[in-house]
Amino acid sequence: MSEFSWIDHLRTGLGGGLTAPMGIGDDAALLASTAQERVIASDMMVEGVHFDRRWSSIADVAYKLYASNASDILAMGASVSGWLLSVALPADTTASAHEAWIDGVRAAQVHWGEAPLIGGDTTRSPSGLIASITMFGEIRDHLWARSGFKPRQRLWIDGELGLAAAGLALLTAGVTHDDYGVIAQHRRPQRWPSALPIGVRAGFDVSDGLSQDLMHGARASDCAMVIDTPLPGAERLMAVIAAHGGSLMPDRPIGAASDEHRAAAALVDQWQLAGGDDYVRVIAADDCPGEGWQTIGYVDSAPVALYDERQGARCPLKVGGWDHFRHDV
Ligand code: ADP
Ligand code: MG
Repeated sequence: MSEFSWIDHLRTGLGGGLTAPMGIGDDAALLASTAQERVIASDMMVEGVHFDRRWSSIADVAYKLYASNASDILAMGASVSGWLLSVALPADTTASAHEAWIDGVRAAQVHWGEAPLIGGDTTRSPSGLIASITMFGEIRDHLWARSGFKPRQRLWIDGELGLAAAGLALLTAGVTHDDYGVIAQHRRPQRWPSALPIGVRAGFDVSDGLSQDLMHGARASDCAMVIDTPLPGAERLMAVIAAHGGSLMPDRPIGAASDEHRAAAALVDQWQLAGGDDYVRVIAADDCPGEGWQTIGYVDSAPVALYDERQGARCPLKVGGWDHFRHDV
């Protein structure tokens, strides 16, 4: 398939019926002016860094790239309204891989919201697949800013944490199937259904590990963040360890059941607080913002810090998460 038949294929499959100048086909796409405020974000995936072709198909990669971008848009209090796709494709990319791109994106749109592809760029990659989406969206009520958190507000989350990290741990340990959906969540992050809250002005996307993303919110809002409730997903992850503990924790303590439980709980904490790839949102609100939102803690006054009060007493919460340029990982 040539570059131009690939672009044509994308336009037909994902272009939402738009033609140039509003869609694919001219030097740039025209954006109509609207009364709504718009947000724009960009997220890239690189083979060998963000995905491993042994464990993720092309369709999975396309799905996840769309989901990660949509997650950023939703975390601004916006809904997805259009996107651009830039790809560097290895020379041996086949027509079935082109088909897989469309299938993966379509599957992601079911969970994450549908919007037309209006442009992009295509080039050859000397090795490995690189793909980036630039996505824009329209604010639905108010902007959810990282800097909008206020002391005494509760923190609410719209999905489970740590699943994708557990899925990756299973795959890395050679386990290719689980009954808990964690491998599926690593490959194709689903979005848990949640009501669109009204009146919210603070929020962020959790994609690099809850503790790290909480810290970004704390810094931007000059406040402390406290977790005081078991995190959603913890029970499911304990069940994953009960089923696959031998593969996941080859050096786990043998003997007292309480030691084993403690080691499992520590691993669950690691996945939930520092795992990454969760693609859920944390927002601030005084009361429950609606169906699908669970509380995990509260905002406290400055200085900037993270605390864990899940056992009652206040302890500092260690910041951990994904950082591409950290050398000690
Ligand atoms: P130019 O040479 O002006 O950059 P291109 O040949 O790269 O033009 O692109 C032609 C048209 O196809 C443009 O409208 C561009 O936005 C679109 N396009 C190219 N690659 C992609 C892609 N990967 N996804 C969506 N649209 C694309
Ligand atoms: Mg171009």
